[in-house]
Amino acid sequence: MKKPFTPFPKIWLSPPHLSGSEITFVEEALDGNWVSPAGPHLDSFEQDLAIYLNIPHAVALASGTAALHLALAILGIKRGDFVCCQSLTFVASANPILYQGGIPVFVDSETESWNICPDALEAAFKKYARRGKIPKAVIVVHLFGMPANLGALLPLCQHYGVALIEDAAEALGSIYFGQSLGTAGDMGIISFNGNKIITTSAGGALLTKDKFNAEKARFLSTQAKEESPYYQHREVGYNYRMSNICAGIGRSQLLVLSERVRARRAIFHFYQTHLASFTEISFQPEASASRSNRWLTALLLDPVLGKKNWPEQIRARMEGQGIETRRVWKPMHLQPLFRDAPYIGGTVSQGLFERGLCLPSGSALTEDQLLRIVDELRLVLS
Ligand SMILES: *Cc1c(COP(=O)(O)O)cnc(C)c1O
Repeated sequence: MKKPFTPFPKIWLSPPHLSGSEITFVEEALDGNWVSPAGPHLDSFEQDLAIYLNIPHAVALASGTAALHLALAILGIKRGDFVCCQSLTFVASANPILYQGGIPVFVDSETESWNICPDALEAAFKKYARRGKIPKAVIVVHLFGMPANLGALLPLCQHYGVALIEDAAEALGSIYFGQSLGTAGDMGIISFNGNKIITTSAGGALLTKDKFNAEKARFLSTQAKEESPYYQHREVGYNYRMSNICAGIGRSQLLVLSERVRARRAIFHFYQTHLASFTEISFQPEASASRSNRWLTALLLDPVLGKKNWPEQIRARMEGQGIETRRVWKPMHLQPLFRDAPYIGGTVSQGLFERGLCLPSGSALTEDQLLRIVDELRLVLS
């Protein structure tokens, strides 16, 4: 098929948005010859991040996936252990369970936040408790930056003695009851991949209140070298530390994080206002205690008579106009990779996948670009 001619540059879903001061930090790293996964930027970035989020410890790592893997390793997840995981998410939330030889138990979403449903999670706990094999941990995702229902999830996990890991990869800068996401559970992770709200090019961090966990994460992420004059190893280690150059980029990006959150929320507001007349559209809901960073503006389309697979048709039409939109994550329990994994819940996550669409949400979008997106959407919808 011939690509249609469009007079405008392509609009991406969520491209990196540099602050302009990255080069200063990177030059500083190069001038000091601090180019490895150690150095002053790394220490400062971890401190700045911990202060911003109001948590005692942040450990900077090579990716959000690495952070999640270390969280599971530190919790002692091993072969045959059950780990509950929100089904509606990116595959990176679930892959680390497999790295540890664990068995993922996928759990449905609630319609209120689109995140893991506390009732379905409790049903999962009860089912496995009856078999004498309660899951060791739960991975709760704050999808597209929207806080999960931590008010119900935290006491539930406490009651059953299950560790709660917050996958806040998409949710840096989001707030729930005044508290930063990623800091309320037993451990939290964030991502600094290029498409996330701020970036270090590639990178992530593990968040924890516990000094032991932070030290363990630093130890495991640098090949688990024992204190010794020679190379001595007792445990499996990983090469997961963030480089000092990436940390420099992160320091520069952290300076503009609040601005980026404001911009993404303004973009959400723009779409909400300009698409208000379409009653078949509804947006990902935000509870009164929640303040999402609106990393991506996500919406649902009511089924329209005679329009099969409506979100996919819209996605393809927008793509033809040089505008990248993206379907909502396909739930893990519907993925061939996890064919054999247990699933607890109903069809909420599947419905969100089938009806959902994410709109371009990059914080550098101009008003002209937003108007162009909205105009194209109006054409497709009417
Ligand atoms: C991006 C993402 C991750 C993984 O982060 P990386 O830094 O890309 O490894 C994990 N979970 C979710 C929900 C994500 O969106």
